[in-house]
Amino acid sequence: MIKNLSKLLISIRRQIHQHPELGDNEYKTSALIEKTLQAHGIKTSRPGKTGVIALIEGKAKSKGPKRCVALRGDIDALPITEQTGAPFSSQTKGVMHACGHDANCTMVLGAALLLSERKNNFSGTVKCLFQPNEESSGGAKGLIRQGALARPAVDAIVGIHVSPWLKMGELGLKRGAMMAAVDHFTIEIIGEGGHGAYPHLATDAVVVAANVINALQTIVSRQADPVEPLVLTIGQINGGERYNIIAGKVTMVGTVRTLSEKLHRQMPAFMERKIKNICAAYGAKYTFKYQMLGNVLENSDAVLEVCRQAGNEVLGAGKVTLLEKPSMGGEDFAQYLRTVPGCFLYIGAGGKKAYPWHHEKFNIDERVLPVGAKLMAATAEKLL
Ligand SMILES: [Zn+2]
Ligand SMILES: [Zn+2]
Repeated sequence: MIKNLSKLLISIRRQIHQHPELGDNEYKTSALIEKTLQAHGIKTSRPGKTGVIALIEGKAKSKGPKRCVALRGDIDALPITEQTGAPFSSQTKGVMHACGHDANCTMVLGAALLLSERKNNFSGTVKCLFQPNEESSGGAKGLIRQGALARPAVDAIVGIHVSPWLKMGELGLKRGAMMAAVDHFTIEIIGEGGHGAYPHLATDAVVVAANVINALQTIVSRQADPVEPLVLTIGQINGGERYNIIAGKVTMVGTVRTLSEKLHRQMPAFMERKIKNICAAYGAKYTFKYQMLGNVLENSDAVLEVCRQAGNEVLGAGKVTLLEKPSMGGEDFAQYLRTVPGCFLYIGAGGKKAYPWHHEKFNIDERVLPVGAKLMAATAEKLL
């Protein structure tokens, strides 16, 4: 029997917070999670280097076929120097839990502990996924490849994330598309360098690049449906040597964000048509690499409804908010939803002064930890 859930979870969260680890290097974090689970008699396994999976089997008589529900919490930190001034601040220079994954995994851990104490209440299996490397968008794909959704096959999945924008203990749910597909592209414009005074003897890659940048923005304004969200950002541009030398090459790197899989699939061709024809018009060549890092995070209406009921019961009436707007940010929880219906939850953890995710002063109201754990445990029971 857990004597003081709140105290235990705060202590675990602070240990994880003090020793943050970057994606795929979460050795201490996963060891602490596994040790705590095992100390409470919970079966664990270690797919890959740093992921942890916990299985809790219910003992109640099953009315129908046994189901399996997965709960997911991510465990990685970010390359940021912490400036919260908290007594349990990061002890690893330049690394910080600035997205709240220390809280996310602690809440799922808390749910595992609660469920292991009330196995007689449910039938079927709860599978807790402690997922590495969310921030680089590779962690969910890795766990899936390692069989996280199989043996036993997962019927529904729920993920939880602390939010600085919701009040403490408030649950934020979003129907349908909630977060964007995140893509990465690199464009090289290859012209012909030359003397700054003799442009007629060169092919100026800077001028071609300028035209490509403007043309790409017209995909958003003139080509995509105006009621369809789309972001195309070029975040990096490099080219040229000196003020009086015409640049022979310009490289641009950027990201595309979409909220529909149709537009997501269309974007590489939309972009290449512009790049190819502008380069041809100026006599330049190009290379274009487009990488889809993830997919649109699309919640299941049926699972969302169950989460809403659990929220009403655990958090109280008036604490469940249906969010109107999706976000153009990404979240690799989307990868699970490609094969399993599920829902991604925001749980409010905003303190007196809220800082955004990935900010050096990001912090949470720790009262959220037992609340999130109870919510996840109740959601799992309802889904089984
Ligand atoms: Zn993040
Ligand atoms: Zn995050």
